[in-house]
Amino acid sequence: TMSSSKTLLVLENFIAGRFVPCSSYIDSYNPSTGDVYCRVPDSGKEEVEAAVRAAKDAFPIWSSKSPLERSQILNKLADLIERDLEVFAQAESKDQGKTITFARTVDIPRAVYNFRFFASSILHHTTECTEMAAAGCLHYTSRTPVGIAGLISPWNLPLYLLTWKIAPAIACGNTVVAKPSEMTSVTAWMMCKLFEKAGISHGVVNMVFGTGSKVGEAIVCHPDVPLISFTGSTLTAQRITEKSAPHCKKLSLELGGKNPALVFDDADLNQCIPATVRSSFANQGEICLCTSRIFVQKGIYNEFLKRFVEETKKWKVGNPSDPTVDMGALISKEHLEKVRNYVKKAQAEGARILCGEGVDSLSLSAGNQKGYFMLPTVITEIKDESCCMQEEIFGPVTCVVAFDTEEEVIERANGVKYGLAATVWSSNVSRVHRVAQRLQSGLVWTNCWLVRDLNLPFGGMKASGVGREGAKDSYEFFTEVKTITIKH
Ligand code: NAD
Repeated sequence: TMSSSKTLLVLENFIAGRFVPCSSYIDSYNPSTGDVYCRVPDSGKEEVEAAVRAAKDAFPIWSSKSPLERSQILNKLADLIERDLEVFAQAESKDQGKTITFARTVDIPRAVYNFRFFASSILHHTTECTEMAAAGCLHYTSRTPVGIAGLISPWNLPLYLLTWKIAPAIACGNTVVAKPSEMTSVTAWMMCKLFEKAGISHGVVNMVFGTGSKVGEAIVCHPDVPLISFTGSTLTAQRITEKSAPHCKKLSLELGGKNPALVFDDADLNQCIPATVRSSFANQGEICLCTSRIFVQKGIYNEFLKRFVEETKKWKVGNPSDPTVDMGALISKEHLEKVRNYVKKAQAEGARILCGEGVDSLSLSAGNQKGYFMLPTVITEIKDESCCMQEEIFGPVTCVVAFDTEEEVIERANGVKYGLAATVWSSNVSRVHRVAQRLQSGLVWTNCWLVRDLNLPFGGMKASGVGREGAKDSYEFFTEVKTITIKH
């Protein structure tokens, strides 16, 4: 109707420092009500072409600024986002379905920190130098920005993951063509309004909104974009690898996970249980680092299961803008259906659903009846070969199974195609080190979860990714190194 279309939020692409309307749009839904509330540009090749041109024009000046000048600009942008933190948090929660509490305490503060972190770290890198006295030669390395960075990000942590790419890319002197997920583009668009005030000159960061198959692929296939940083699913990463192969692009791929928790019988359950409930269901289970396979040693299995289910049942699901709610809505109707189907498949295989989907009833307030909600769900008596134990579900579903020995649990934990994150719970220090060494996983947290030092490498093994991001890793990825030899 006319009245509802008037209230729709309409986003525009941001190219060469200007907001430009698009000829067609994609509907974007509010996951907690099921209503269309926003229209996202359905851009294509033409818009990507314009963005690449703008990024190319901006490159000579931006890349020749000193790290200190760029650092000051990044800090300014961080301050501006922080100033508007509450507005950003509300927008992220509405657009994605996550709780306002999560957006306020995790997503937006982290986006601010991403800029501050790379504003600082860019000032402290050093290059290498070696001497070959006998040959009368000195060798040294020099690092320069790569050029135009193509950045593609997913819908689960929209501004958080996009800024984790934009910040190091521009700190290193690259210019950017970025595409957030078409399902969660609002906060990226809001951030573009702050660029000018922060001192980011026109064309340094260009935002092209739209689908993966049109905008994403146009960026990946563009001959003038030598580098792609992608966070998303393993399937999409395979396509990006194929499509970019003819151009020999630099790729960084942060992909899915099927993350195990290994709970040994000497674990401190008072810490382990609440942390593992959180690691399973935080952000509706829509974090690549979420736990979805919990292996518990036989001696404590029954106690763990009982307490874990009790704790899970305490989680309040509902209106994301209610600050007392623990879990909001899933991203889309289709995704909710997909996650529910996994639970159905497990049931059909003879697994037991201890709480959540299909077992307990979910009561929602009047305004949220059409939202994409489901209860946190715990599955047990399930085989390691089951699709629920092998495939990434990316929703509030976790499986709990028993194990006997350390040797056995390491093998079972490693028995999936993914290798992103693992948690180990034990009070035996030697065991913690021993097990951490043998897990096929880019990150291993012992007796904690999600504690990150951005200085250190982040990324996955096996089907969970290629490359790492972090202070040094992102610097290396977003620059080209040259070795220069001087004979004296
Ligand atoms: P997705 O792969 O469907 O989409 C990610 C992005 O890629 C979106 O912007 C999408 O539009 C774009 N895209 C889709 N097809 C494309 C194509 N052919 N060419 C170029 N771009 C394309 O993933 P999603 O559903 O948005 O996100 C969920 C996935 O992301 C999960 O698998 C999750 O584990 C993963 N993830 C990984 C990390 C990590 O750091 N390892 C972090 C968050 C999410």
